[in-house]
Amino acid sequence: MLTSVVGYPRIGAERELKFASEKYFKGELSERELLSIAKQLRAEHIRSQKEAGVDLIPSNDFSFYDGLLDTAVLFNIIPGRYKELGLSALDTYFAMARGYQGDKGDVKALAMKKWFNTNYHYIVPELEDDAEIRLAGTKVFDEYEEAGESNTQTKPVIAGPYTLLSLCRYSGTKKREDFSSALVRAYRELLAGLEARGTEWVQIDEPALVKDLAGEDKEFLKQLYQELLSGKGKLKVLLQTYFGDVRDVYELLCGLDFDGIGLDFVEGKQTVELIDKYSFPKDKLLFAGLINGKNIWKNRYPETLDRLEYLKGKGIDVVLSTSCSLLHVPYTLEAEKKLSADHKQYFAYAKEKLGELRQIANIAESGDRDAFEAYRENVGLFAKERDCENREVQERLSAIGEEAYTRKPARRERERIQKETLKLPKFPTTTIGSFPQTPDVKKNRSLFRKGEIDERQYKEFNKEKIRRAIEWQESIGIDVPVHGEYERNDMVEYFGESLSGYLFTEKAWVQSYGTRCVKPPIIWGDVSRKKPITVEWSVFAQSLTDKPVKGMLTGPVTILNWSFAREDISIKESMTQIALAIRDEVLDLEKNGIRIIQIDEAALREKLPLRRSDWYSEYLDFAIPAFRLVHSGVKAETQIHTHMCYSEFTDIIPAIDDMDADVITFEASRSDLLILDALKECHFETETGPGVYDIHSPRIPSVEELVSALRRMREKVADDKLWVNPDCGLKTRGEEETRASLIHLVKAAELIRKEA
Ligand code: GLN
Ligand code: ZN
Repeated sequence: MLTSVVGYPRIGAERELKFASEKYFKGELSERELLSIAKQLRAEHIRSQKEAGVDLIPSNDFSFYDGLLDTAVLFNIIPGRYKELGLSALDTYFAMARGYQGDKGDVKALAMKKWFNTNYHYIVPELEDDAEIRLAGTKVFDEYEEAGESNTQTKPVIAGPYTLLSLCRYSGTKKREDFSSALVRAYRELLAGLEARGTEWVQIDEPALVKDLAGEDKEFLKQLYQELLSGKGKLKVLLQTYFGDVRDVYELLCGLDFDGIGLDFVEGKQTVELIDKYSFPKDKLLFAGLINGKNIWKNRYPETLDRLEYLKGKGIDVVLSTSCSLLHVPYTLEAEKKLSADHKQYFAYAKEKLGELRQIANIAESGDRDAFEAYRENVGLFAKERDCENREVQERLSAIGEEAYTRKPARRERERIQKETLKLPKFPTTTIGSFPQTPDVKKNRSLFRKGEIDERQYKEFNKEKIRRAIEWQESIGIDVPVHGEYERNDMVEYFGESLSGYLFTEKAWVQSYGTRCVKPPIIWGDVSRKKPITVEWSVFAQSLTDKPVKGMLTGPVTILNWSFAREDISIKESMTQIALAIRDEVLDLEKNGIRIIQIDEAALREKLPLRRSDWYSEYLDFAIPAFRLVHSGVKAETQIHTHMCYSEFTDIIPAIDDMDADVITFEASRSDLLILDALKECHFETETGPGVYDIHSPRIPSVEELVSALRRMREKVADDKLWVNPDCGLKTRGEEETRASLIHLVKAAELIRKEA
C-alpha cells in the first residue's frame, strides 16, 4: 500500500526559517544566505520523509511566507502598487505579505485571513481588473528539480484554481469568471512543464470544496477542470481536499478526469457515507486521509485498519495519506525532553506520523494485524486507563444551572451604569493588551525558567516594565491603560500553566502566519484553576494610576481552540471546564478592584464549522454560552471587554452580540471596514472598537490616516459606542514604532472628539 503526505511543516524543527527571515528583514542576512537556509530545510524535510518510507513526498509545500501567496505570485497575480516599488522578486513578495515602508514607497500589506478552520493564516491575493494571469515563475519546477538532485521523485503540490479564485479579493469590477480561462491556461502550462520534467504525480489542493457550494459554484468548478484536464498527458493528477467532506461535489469529482482524489476521513463527517452511497470510481486512486494532520494524539490503529479494510472490501485502490498538510502539527517528539515518557507514548508529531503511515500501511497490506508488535502496542495503549479525570471538576460542571449563563442586568442598563461610574471621555482610547516583547523581556523570562534568577528578581523586572508602561500610557493620554502582558509568553500557554489538566511542550511550534509560530499546550485531562493567574500583575498596575486598568484574560473558546484538544471527551465539555476556571479568575480580579476586564476570544471564529448548517448545532450553541459563563457573575459596574482577531464575523453578528460583552475590539483596518456596515444592519448593541491600524506590519500610521478611518467609523457606529484602539496586541512590534503609532492614535482621538 502506497503512502502519501499532503504537506510537511516548513519553518524548521528549530524554527530556522523564522529566524533567518527575520534577520533578512533587518538586513542582517543576505538574500543568498536566506535562500541557502531554505534549501537546507527543504532537503532535510524530504530526507525525513524518505527515511520514513513515504512514497509520495510533497514538494513546493515550502514557502517563505504562505503557499497561497506563492501560487498568486507564480501566476503573476501581483497588484500594480507592489510592482511599482521596483523591488527584487523576493522583496516584492515580502512587500505583499508584510507591507513596505522605505525609500521606494509606502504600501500596506495584503489582507491576511485564517486558513479555513485552522490557526494558519494565508495572504489574500488581490486581483485587479488589469491583472495578466500567466505562468510567471519557476518555483514549482525548481523545487521539484532540487529534490531530484538527491534522487527523490516528489509530488509537487499547488493550490488549485477553484480555491485560489474563491479566496482572492477582487478590487475592480471583474469577477472570478473573467479570470478563469487565463488561469486555466497557466495551470495547463504548469502541468505540461512538470510532465516534461518527468513528474509522475502532481497534487492540486482544493480545500474550498469542503464548504457549501451552490449550483453555480459547481458549474464553475466543472468547467475549470474539464478545461484544465483536457488533453492531459501522462502526468497523474491528484485532486486533494481536506478539512471536511465534499458532499456537494463528490459525484462531480468522481466524473472528472483525475487520477486520484484525496478525501479527509478525520474531519469529513460524510466521507464514508458518500463512498458508500455513490461508490468510488475504479479508474482512480483514493488517497485516504486517515492520519490526523491537525492533532497530536497517536492514531488509533484498529479504527484506521477497519476503515482500510472496508475500502478494500469495496474494491477501491487506496493510498494511505494524512488528512491534511502536517503544517498544522509540530515537527517531532524527539525534541521534547521534558514531557514524560508516559505522556509521550500517546503522541505523534509530524515526523512520528510518517512512521504511523508506514506501519499502518504495512499492517493493512499483510492482513494479519496481530502479527505486528506495533499493532498490539497501539491497542494496549488506548485500552489502558489514563490519569485524566478530576471528580470535583465533573461535579461542579453538572451542578451549574441555566442562570449561570446569563449576566444581569441587561446590557443597556449596564452601559448606563458604566458610563456613570467609569467616566471615560467620548471615543475612549485603549490597546488590546500586550506591549512589545523586547529582547530584555524574553531574556528575563528565560533566565527565570532556567533558574538563573529567582522569582523575586523575575517579578521585579516585570513590575519595572509595568511601571514604565503605565507611566508612559498616562503621559500620552491613553484612557484605559493595560499592564502590557510582559509576563506572558503566549496568550494560551500562559493560562494553561496555571490550570490543572494541561501539558506543556518545549518545541511544539506550529506556524501561524509568516514567521510567527505558536506553541499550543496539550489538554491532557479535566481542567480546573490551580491558583489566581493574573491578579497580582493587574492589581500592581492598577495601584499606579487612577485610570481604570484593563485586566487581561483569555477566554475559554480561544484557550480550547489554541490547545491540542482531547479526543476522548467532547470539545463542549472541555470548553465548559475551562470557562469555569476563567470565571474564577474574573471574579478574583473584580474582587481586587479591577473595573474593566477583557476576555480575549481571538480564536472564536476559527473552529466555526465550514458548513453553515453546522454553525449553531456543532459550535455556537455551546461556545457562546461558555463565554457568558465566564463573565455572568460580575457586577453591573464591571465592564467586560472581548477582543477578536480579524473581523470575519459578518455572518455571525447576532452570535457575537449574544456573548453579551460590554465592549468588543477587533481587526478592521486590513479589511476596509466592511464589517461596520454589517454591524449597523444587524443593530449590533455591543460597544465597538474596530482596529484603526494594522499591527501586523511595522509601518506607522499617520494622524491623518487615523482620523479619516475614525470618520468613516463614525458613519457606521454611534458616537457613544465607538472606541479607539489598534487592531490587535502589540507584542510582536518594536518599541519605537509602537510609541509613534500610539501617540498618533491618541492625537487622532482628540481631533475626532472636537468634530463630534
Ligand atoms: N490581549 C492579547 C494581546 O494583546 C490579544 C492577542 C490576540 O488577540 N491575538 O496580545
Ligand atoms: Zn487580536
